[in-house]
Amino acid sequence: MTLTPKTGKVILAGAGPGDPELLTMKAARFLQNADVVLVDRLVSKEILTNYISPKAEIIYVGKQCRRGVSTPQKTINELMIENALLGKLVVRLKGGDVSIFSNILDELESLVANNIEYEIIPGVTAALGAAAFAGIPLTARGYATSVRFLTYYKSDVVTDEYWKELANTEDTLVFYMSSETLSNVVEKLTAHHIHEDKLLAIIEQATTPFQNVQVMNLYDFKRKISTPNFISPTLIIIGRVVSLHENFKWLANSSSKEFYFKPMSLIPNLQPEKITNVS
Ligand code: SAH
Repeated sequence: MTLTPKTGKVILAGAGPGDPELLTMKAARFLQNADVVLVDRLVSKEILTNYISPKAEIIYVGKQCRRGVSTPQKTINELMIENALLGKLVVRLKGGDVSIFSNILDELESLVANNIEYEIIPGVTAALGAAAFAGIPLTARGYATSVRFLTYYKSDVVTDEYWKELANTEDTLVFYMSSETLSNVVEKLTAHHIHEDKLLAIIEQATTPFQNVQVMNLYDFKRKISTPNFISPTLIIIGRVVSLHENFKWLANSSSKEFYFKPMSLIPNLQPEKITNVS
């Protein structure tokens, strides 16, 4: 008789944008049973403390673009594969949803290449969390019938033709990972004469106790905000729907400058970091 070693499984799960209660019940169930959890920077500490089995090993594999401190994707892939091959239940927990501006493709390719079983569990993406907690419907009768999820992180790949299209569309535009390039986004859209009625919402630390929402006209942003400096993570919503915030906001601004998610620069030396104490 030959004994075939038991192979584990990898669960790719979204943790939601901040508020721990936005975690799905399915993700919570897997976290309760996990042997190893690989977590991103934008995952609430409360989820790590309250939802993960105390016997699980939590490995911090955060990334923060532009900050020069990131866990290499190769290391993340290796940690998933190594642990699954040891027969463990691995949860790869990502901020927001797993398929929006995340490296899920890379992770799926390496799971398939190594014949590892997996499941994908969706999460509340930042656009949906931020829109809900700012009282901004992303589509609304008479305002917008479509919504686009964009990023201006790789600024070089956007053509002028495309900016013109973005300035003129009636779709709601949601920009991820673009707070540091926001001046350029505004510059491009105003250069292509985006309508004055289309407002800009800057939503910092959405769905967390430190959420702040600022709404303004893009032309005013250009005049007033010379050096934008927003607390990470920040999401940008542009479109006619943003004007609905005024009537439908239900959460007061925190006015806090505190960080809900620890910046990568404050995480000491080793990458990835093994968390033994998350308090
Ligand atoms: N997979 C994630 C997105 C990862 S990209 C998701 O589905 O939400 C990281 C970007 O998401 C940040 O730069 C920011 O633009 C946005 N983001 C994530 N969490 C956020 C939050 N709580 N508030 C505002 N923006 C957030």
